[in-house]
Amino acid sequence: MTLIDLTAAPVARPVNAHLPVAIIGAGPVGLAAAAHLLGRGIDFVVLESGSQVAASVRSWGHTRLFSPWKHLVDPAAQALLEATGWTLPSPDRAPTGAELVELYLEPLAALDGIASRIRFGLAVTDVTREGMDRTRTAGRNAAPLVVRTRSASGEVEDRAFRAVIDASGTYLSSNSLASNGLTLPGLAEVTDRVLPALPDVLGRDRAVFAGRHTTVVGAGHSAANTVLALASLARDVPGTRVTWAIRSASPDRVTDAETDGLPGRASLGVRARRAVADGRVTLLDGFETVGARWDGAAIALTGRRGGGLTTHRTDVLVNATGFRPDLSLYREIRLDLDDVVEAPRRLAPLIDPNLHSCGTVEPHGYRELAHPDQGVFLVGMKSYGRAPTFLLKTGYEQVRSVVAWIAGDIASAQAIELVLPATGVCSTDGGGCC
Ligand SMILES: Cc1cc2nc3c(=O)[nH]c(=O)nc-3n(C[C@H](O)[C@H](O)[C@H](O)COP(=O)(O)OP(=O)(O)OC[C@H]3O[C@@H](n4cnc5c(N)ncnc54)[C@H](O)[C@@H]3O)c2cc1C
Repeated sequence: MTLIDLTAAPVARPVNAHLPVAIIGAGPVGLAAAAHLLGRGIDFVVLESGSQVAASVRSWGHTRLFSPWKHLVDPAAQALLEATGWTLPSPDRAPTGAELVELYLEPLAALDGIASRIRFGLAVTDVTREGMDRTRTAGRNAAPLVVRTRSASGEVEDRAFRAVIDASGTYLSSNSLASNGLTLPGLAEVTDRVLPALPDVLGRDRAVFAGRHTTVVGAGHSAANTVLALASLARDVPGTRVTWAIRSASPDRVTDAETDGLPGRASLGVRARRAVADGRVTLLDGFETVGARWDGAAIALTGRRGGGLTTHRTDVLVNATGFRPDLSLYREIRLDLDDVVEAPRRLAPLIDPNLHSCGTVEPHGYRELAHPDQGVFLVGMKSYGRAPTFLLKTGYEQVRSVVAWIAGDIASAQAIELVLPATGVCSTDGGGCC
């Protein structure tokens, strides 16, 4: 375990204690923040764009996590739940996303004091300070934060808060299919045949893929998961084919090392490589996607390969290129973000996937997550920006520290202690690490 030196950064004091706290997103980390606020008797509102809790986890609910139950439950939430007779499911077993929702997040969201404070169907579109745009400085941190929401029917509402805990994740904002990061030219022509990462190939979405040629774009474990599911479908349904399109020469972001601390992850890598080797999956390597169009019968995907332009035809595309944070909410807020991964600047060096594996990310709290605009915190998956190494256990310690700061309990906010187990806690997403 490593403790970060917290003595250097200034300790700002929380203000506007008469106002509630806004939590954006009712996923695992947003609900953990709710549990901590409830425990400290601080009023809050959870703003969730979906119609149910954990809308994003539900989307990939058919996927099994690598972490076992004992690393997936927030301690404050666990204490509240156990007081109602709830028990932790088999601690050493890894659940599917659907089980995480059904056996943990739904009971947590249903608790007295949390259920009545969740507002569904409200997407947060903007955050600002009362009466101030980004340029105004005098008295800035004393002004309440204002959160704008939009309902499904288009109704817009502004509400004042003492702090904003943004736990909205990154699942709803995929990276681009284009290798330069911009919107893929021609995407609008084929958009009804493009699916986001981790479709339920063998269940909910089976009809989309059965008997068709699908191309999965991306080199991480999400892509490997989907490629394997498609190979399995191809065994049962004639005419089903799968191509795996990657930028590099081999899917080297998918580990198959025997030394990998995560047996589930290594086995995924081994199976994906075997599927390529025995011809069940066609690897389109060294392919940099530059455009797409509908040619009347199929998607024509244009890419740079081997020094020239080439066209690859496919019926369906899966975008498994990873995720990025939606920062459009913060046009009027002063954030301090790292230029590369778009994580809070002080956090970025701690989570750089080139330097840290999931098990070695240093513990961190409100100081690393603070911004020039006081009281605004990006937490959970979103706090890691474009880095794919986030773990729930880290997010739970983040919100414990942030909520302690909001409560004015600076000693507790600074007492960051998180022992990350070496195995079993990584995400399947994105690239290098997890
Ligand atoms: C397939 C997969 C497997 C993973 N496996 C593991 C694992 O084994 N162990 C581990 O520790 N981590 C794992 N992770 C990583 C991470 O823990 C999860 O992604 C987790 O869901 C992140 O929680 P979160 O609360 O930060 O965000 P999310 O779960 O993404 O929740 C965000 C919530 O915010 C809502 N929302 C989004 N935008 C808005 C808005 N503008 N306004 C209002 N609401 C909004 C969404 O609807 C959603 O409900 C995995 C991730 C994936 C995708």
